[in-house]
Amino acid sequence: MPLNLPGILVPFQLIIYPRLVVPSLIVKDIRHLDFPALKRAGYRGAVFDKDNCLTIPYKDTLVPELEEAWKTCRETFGEGNVIIVSNSAGTGLDAGGIQAESVQHHLQVPVLFHASFKPAYSCISAIQTYFSSLPRPIRSNELIIVGDRIFTDIVMANRIQVQGDKRPRLLMQSQEFVSEKKDIDLGSLDSTSTESTVDLKPSLSPPGPLAVWTTGVWEKESMFMRCMESQLVKSVEKWTTPKPPHSLDQWDTSQFIRHLPPPEPPKRTSVFSNLVSRFRTS
Ligand SMILES: [Mg+2]
Repeated sequence: MPLNLPGILVPFQLIIYPRLVVPSLIVKDIRHLDFPALKRAGYRGAVFDKDNCLTIPYKDTLVPELEEAWKTCRETFGEGNVIIVSNSAGTGLDAGGIQAESVQHHLQVPVLFHASFKPAYSCISAIQTYFSSLPRPIRSNELIIVGDRIFTDIVMANRIQVQGDKRPRLLMQSQEFVSEKKDIDLGSLDSTSTESTVDLKPSLSPPGPLAVWTTGVWEKESMFMRCMESQLVKSVEKWTTPKPPHSLDQWDTSQFIRHLPPPEPPKRTSVFSNLVSRFRTS
């Protein structure tokens, strides 16, 4: 694995912008994301990391536990509006784009080809070019960016956000929009109708992109670095204060968390019931 130079250089930028490492939202995995709520709030597109977010590292198939959530995500945002941006598939490491083809086939969404690793600015440009070239272009602040690594996925999302902060923010309009739209019935929506039915007016945009950190690990990988990243996030959150107009910091993103019922405890069987079931089956 070659060095990820854009990732290695991140600590130097943290001296100026320490909150680049702070996620907008933290969930265990994508099952805890309320995609219809994100759509109602004005988020129209999604960028997903692959390894340890959707798949086992270096595998191309979706983790089976995520199948329902992934389907909901794709149906909610619509075809072409959800993409994979990986630091393996679709990069220079992926000779001939073979892995990208395979991932695209298994996950049923496009894989972005990009020359530089996340969180490079040239990778950000490739993402922005993709979404701006869609039939219904999506702006960077209308994206959610989901991944399991702070120094790549979260820093990349926050770099885009810092770029966007140079433009006027529309947080208050966005909040008003959410309260107006909360009665929308999404039950009847499908992959084609969602985009048009729940769309925002051009002047009403959410703050973003939303940097979503998935902390669950499907297969142990780089655990020391993950631990360091986690400690860094805690320290930065403790010792720095969000600066207006850093509007995402002022927004309650907990509205996008889906609370799942706890798993059912395994059923205990008594010796007597075991004997009865054996008797019945014999
Ligand atoms: Mg990953």
